[in-house]
Amino acid sequence: MSRQKSSLLAIAAVTVALIPGPALAATPTPTPKPTAAAAKTAAKKAPVDCEQVKCIALTFDDGPGKYAGTLLDTLKKYDAKATFFLEGQYVKARPAYVKRMAKEGHELGNHSYTHPDFTKLEPAAIRNEIQKTQDEVKKAAGVEPKLLRPPYGLADIQVSEVAAEFDMPIILWTAGSRDWDTKNVDAIHKQTLAVAQQDSIILMHDWVKQTVDGMPALIKTLQAKGFHLVTVSDVVKRQNLEPGDAFPLPEGWQN
Ligand SMILES: [Zn+2]
Repeated sequence: MSRQKSSLLAIAAVTVALIPGPALAATPTPTPKPTAAAAKTAAKKAPVDCEQVKCIALTFDDGPGKYAGTLLDTLKKYDAKATFFLEGQYVKARPAYVKRMAKEGHELGNHSYTHPDFTKLEPAAIRNEIQKTQDEVKKAAGVEPKLLRPPYGLADIQVSEVAAEFDMPIILWTAGSRDWDTKNVDAIHKQTLAVAQQDSIILMHDWVKQTVDGMPALIKTLQAKGFHLVTVSDVVKRQNLEPGDAFPLPEGWQN
């Protein structure tokens, strides 16, 4: 889709949203009075404004990995949100985790179907990798990813053009936890804290057991330092990314 067309669609969507729905207004269903508990829940679920508070986005690649269930339990316990860049073949193998991720407010991204280097593929093959994963996520969770993270973070102009066809920006990371390399709870903890800054996008993996084992302590420490754990879309909101744009910008790129 062209940028102009997608902007027009965005304008159309906003316009529609601003017009009060007569059908909705005419619905005779009485509105239940909000209880104190419901009001408290609503306040708690108010979207985090990353211009007002210190945000960080933890991202988990290549999953859903086999420890995703434990990770989701931890995220729920500490009221933390994350972004999962899913690999289609594992979405197909473990759809229940993907359904749960969406239901519990995490963001789902596309990380290809079989993890090839996109810069070595023809556009048709890249499209196929992306589309198959979109289809599996839709089947599992009823939603489609709106972000693309190409395998190994490798992208070029051709990858960008295909991403644009899918209306997706390319999301890389500001820093890594090096969890796939060290596979050590303490090392992952130290490395993540060393690179954690406002609006960081941190690369992690939910197939690394030590990442999942160390997550309760890591989240507690990050929250004690004032970080709000949010989705990638929360963190990049102010970047106004267009489909095909890459963020953070790789060296030599101009969006
Ligand atoms: Zn990967």
